[in-house]
Amino acid sequence: MGRKCSVYDCVNNSSRHFSKSFYSFPRDSETCLAWVKFCGCKDLELVFFSQGPWGLDKYKVCSDHFAPESFRNTYQKDKGLLFGAKPVYPAHLWKETVGEYIIYHLT
Ligand SMILES: [Zn+2]
Repeated sequence: MGRKCSVYDCVNNSSRHFSKSFYSFPRDSETCLAWVKFCGCKDLELVFFSQGPWGLDKYKVCSDHFAPESFRNTYQKDKGLLFGAKPVYPAHLWKETVGEYIIYHLT
């Protein structure tokens, strides 16, 4: 089981990708709407517009979609997403960490 990332085309799943963090949708509706739009999934939009951020309780977005400056602890597993952070990297960008560098590949 485990939670799958809600971003379109993202295969990350909390039961298989232990090194990634999975975040709940923010309660702040402006930030939440930005996340929903980013996910590119009609189902999520329908839930958001009918129930608001609280309707999205069972959905998650994985840490792959956030910029390093969105986290309190970029290099730890529990990165700590900062308030108001919005996802920026779509699922088709493949990210690799080499030492202190993060390299983004277009696939
Ligand atoms: Zn993801």
